[in-house]
Amino acid sequence: MKYLIKNGALVSSAGRCRADLLTQDGKIAQIGQGLSAEDAQVIDASGKYIFPGFIDTHTHFDLDAGDFHTADDFATGTKAALAGGTTAILDFTTQQKGETLKQALENWHRLAEGKACCDYGFHMSITDWNPAVAAEIKDMTRLGVTSYKLYMAYDNLRVNDQEIMEILEAEKGIVGVHCENQEMIRGVTARLKREEKDSPRLRPKSRPAEAEAEAIHRLLALAKLAGAPVNIVHVSSALGLREIRRARLDGQQAFAETCPQYLVLEDSIYEKPGFAGAAYVCAPPIRKPEDVKELWTAVSRDEFDMIGTDHCSFHMDGQKTRGLSDFTQIPGGLPGVERRAALFYHFGVNGGKATVEQMCRLLSERPAKLFGLYPKKGSLAPGSDADLVIWDPKAAWTITAKEQTQNVDYTPYEGIQVKGRAQKVFLRGRLAAENGKPCKSVTGEYLFRGSRQL
Ligand SMILES: [Zn+2]
Repeated sequence: MKYLIKNGALVSSAGRCRADLLTQDGKIAQIGQGLSAEDAQVIDASGKYIFPGFIDTHTHFDLDAGDFHTADDFATGTKAALAGGTTAILDFTTQQKGETLKQALENWHRLAEGKACCDYGFHMSITDWNPAVAAEIKDMTRLGVTSYKLYMAYDNLRVNDQEIMEILEAEKGIVGVHCENQEMIRGVTARLKREEKDSPRLRPKSRPAEAEAEAIHRLLALAKLAGAPVNIVHVSSALGLREIRRARLDGQQAFAETCPQYLVLEDSIYEKPGFAGAAYVCAPPIRKPEDVKELWTAVSRDEFDMIGTDHCSFHMDGQKTRGLSDFTQIPGGLPGVERRAALFYHFGVNGGKATVEQMCRLLSERPAKLFGLYPKKGSLAPGSDADLVIWDPKAAWTITAKEQTQNVDYTPYEGIQVKGRAQKVFLRGRLAAENGKPCKSVTGEYLFRGSRQL
């Protein structure tokens, strides 16, 4: 099937221009004025933006959380992604202790293969660093994995400072790091549990911004010694941001990601009556209004490289409720993969804090370049994959859990009225979603990724 999309405003980070776009055999075949093609289905995109398909750099689908799994697996998670305009996701394979990286990668391939509906790639989370694992890095490159993830928090996942430095020195791709100081969190949590009654509202207090900022500071010092660039994932606080700015002024190459929840929600949501605040429990937690303001300032100044979602969904009923009598037992994570673009467009573009060009840069172009997908992804140019989002800036609608594709019993954004939505979404030239609903029978492909171009 060929599509001829006429009169849309084609968006890149550098600007927008009105043009026609022809797709053929899964690729963008031609871009120009007054195009015609007899055998193509014509779509009039007057008054609409055309974005290169959005890339979510941070999802956790089908993640094992002890005796249960995340609510979304690769089937529901990637359908939800498409519904919102996201045509590629990068999920995290996690090496268990004692496992090789190849085993971990195979495990995640099994979870995604035949189920994923949008294109997908994997970051590799290293949790057990040793010489044999170091020797596997070149195999990972050959298998299309060119980015890594390390945890400074969580006792079962984290690596120590020496290991972080060794991995950064060994690494030929890009390393993303979850920055929170676990011991600070443990200390504050113990005090809170002694002093106050258990409740979800204690959760953000137990993971203060200082714990994030300290870890970012330490990571950047390690990266400086290692002489390596580094990527700081899900930056949530003004204090954390200050560390990144300081290192950049110092000449360090530091990439940074933030997430919609840190841009749209404020920590007062944890004060909701009863257990309702558990819906928003994630790590790092939702921060104060002044943090939200500072993150938007950073967005408008192009200080972030990506908006990922950290989509990690748990049902309120039966999963989040495990923490009813102990706030530390509430599974951490929020659903978000489906609503990222709409939230960014509404609060960022409509809110006057970002332009559509910046939206393209953050949600598509920059992730493609950093994670070795450009110009196959992240670009509207002949030869690129025909991953396209026809964006209707005028569509007004309300976010509700009832209407969502992601398989979870709530949304953190319930009742928020937004303007702007993905009207049609194409994955490699095939219609994959329309008006917020995924189409049947689109299948995702594994993304063999190359080296970064930033
Ligand atoms: Zn995550």
